[in-house]
Amino acid sequence: MHLVYQPQFDCRTSSVIGAEALLRWVHPVDGEIAPSEFVPVAEDSDLIVALGQWVLRRACRDAAHWNVEQGGRVYVAVNVSARQLRQGEFNKDVEAVLAESGLSPHLLELELTESQLMANMTAGVEAMRQLRAAGIRLSLDDFGTGYSSLSYLQSFPVNNLKIDRAFVKPLPEAGQPIVTAIISMAHSFGIAVVAEGVEEPAQLAWLCEAGCDIVQGYLTGRPMSSEGMTDLLRKACANPEPLP
Ligand code: C2E
Ligand code: MG
Ligand code: MG
Repeated sequence: MHLVYQPQFDCRTSSVIGAEALLRWVHPVDGEIAPSEFVPVAEDSDLIVALGQWVLRRACRDAAHWNVEQGGRVYVAVNVSARQLRQGEFNKDVEAVLAESGLSPHLLELELTESQLMANMTAGVEAMRQLRAAGIRLSLDDFGTGYSSLSYLQSFPVNNLKIDRAFVKPLPEAGQPIVTAIISMAHSFGIAVVAEGVEEPAQLAWLCEAGCDIVQGYLTGRPMSSEGMTDLLRKACANPEPLP
């Protein structure tokens, strides 16, 4: 297994501000197996805890590496499963991994999904509060796809909300009201908005115009190796370019 990183761009400045770590499994016989196939299987057992720990350690180490040149400004976002969060030692493990890698807590973002959190509200929110208190950033992944009870947003101490790509796909011809509403609601809670799965220039233009803060998608950058991120960040510093 290995990790790839997909860059996230600030809509206002067009600069790369972070990257999401995505797990890849190339099976010796069957070839590449999608995370949507193997992650749920690992989530059915404690395997996800060990796997998640490995992902976290590797992602923090890689991000610490990019930031030697970048002066501590590029964060890494890591997907976390409910079972990891429920496990009592999770917060301590995160702090230990940060200490070991030398990555500053504000350069680590943990991505959680609302369905996971709602399945275990009290424990989840308490764990989130502790992580935030340690300076770690939190984001709510796949927003709008599960059973969203908007009142829960008040209880989740998140920095970012990620609009699922199912809502980005129909833009700009259709689906504007829901995306406009999500952006406005998030902003009124002081939460920044990340749009996932941006593939078309017209989607990007519409999202930036609508006040979306951050974009991630095949249009602005495909998932790449850690070395690919180092090169991308170097090039962006030497020759800053506007988004397509
Ligand atoms: P996710 O966290 O919502 O990740 C975004 C997915 O959208 C990734 O798929 C990414 O490659 C894909 N994507 C990004 N931009 C575009 C685009 O412009 N168009 C389209 N069609 N797709 C785009 P991926 O890598 O297959 O991951 C699928 C899911 O697997 C992730 O969804 C996440 O829930 C899970 N996953 C991946 N890595 C990990 C991990 O390390 N730990 C855990 N617990 N889950 C993971
Ligand atoms: Mg994610
Ligand atoms: Mg997502």
